[in-house]
Amino acid sequence: MAIVLDFFRKLLLCSICNKPLDPKIAVTDQNGKPVHEECWLLRARLEQVAKPPKA
Ligand SMILES: [Zn+2]
Repeated sequence: MAIVLDFFRKLLLCSICNKPLDPKIAVTDQNGKPVHEECWLLRARLEQVAKPPKA
């Protein structure tokens, strides 16, 4: 049981898609949370679209 708990403690979850995240490919978002690079890029793109154009 301890081995299983240890496994889950090591397992990172992407804070965007909530899927398992390999620490080797994790990037950190502006809140310091680990995310997939592709999720981060996707969200950055979505946020850009959501923002009103600069005046
Ligand atoms: Zn993700």
